[in-house]
Amino acid sequence: MSVYNIYLVDIEDAIGSDNKRAEVKHFIKDYFDKVCKKAGIKEGCSVQFVTTNPQAKKHELIMYYMKRTPHIVENIKHDNLPPTHETSTGFTKWNSKEHGSDMEASSAMDSRDIANITFHEFMHQKLHLSDKLHTKDGLAGDVNSSLSEDNIKLMAAKLMANHPQWTGGFAILEARKNGDVLAY
Ligand SMILES: [Zn+2]
Repeated sequence: MSVYNIYLVDIEDAIGSDNKRAEVKHFIKDYFDKVCKKAGIKEGCSVQFVTTNPQAKKHELIMYYMKRTPHIVENIKHDNLPPTHETSTGFTKWNSKEHGSDMEASSAMDSRDIANITFHEFMHQKLHLSDKLHTKDGLAGDVNSSLSEDNIKLMAAKLMANHPQWTGGFAILEARKNGDVLAY
């Protein structure tokens, strides 16, 4: 196996500062260190904010942070799978070919909250659960809660599942950053 990559995209600077991004990254890394360990990935996980379009492997994850809605993962077309899920600020959608998660973020948000919502949306993706996820404990049921043993176990079991990431988000965020108010 090789290191497990989690790519975070905040080219719009929704989170507002490098310091805050470092905190968000730290919390997400802490969660996934536990998940990767449980999954037996001895190389561990790498969590990074990227400024070029990430090339995730089929089992890896990408999160897009946006300054505003509409949610960019709405671009993932519906097909035979009945999915999608929304929390207050996060959104996850998938079809039979691609998966995506985004969330609206701001400099006023607590970095722990941003990390928790990120992990929650990744749980929707990896477990392929919509509202049913919310019946579980820890960050599955409540993003104001904390990572539970069950969260770690559930994610470790599905971490290597091939759920290829939608790759269209980067270009949309870049267009928004460049002032395209219609970018969606
Ligand atoms: Zn949810």
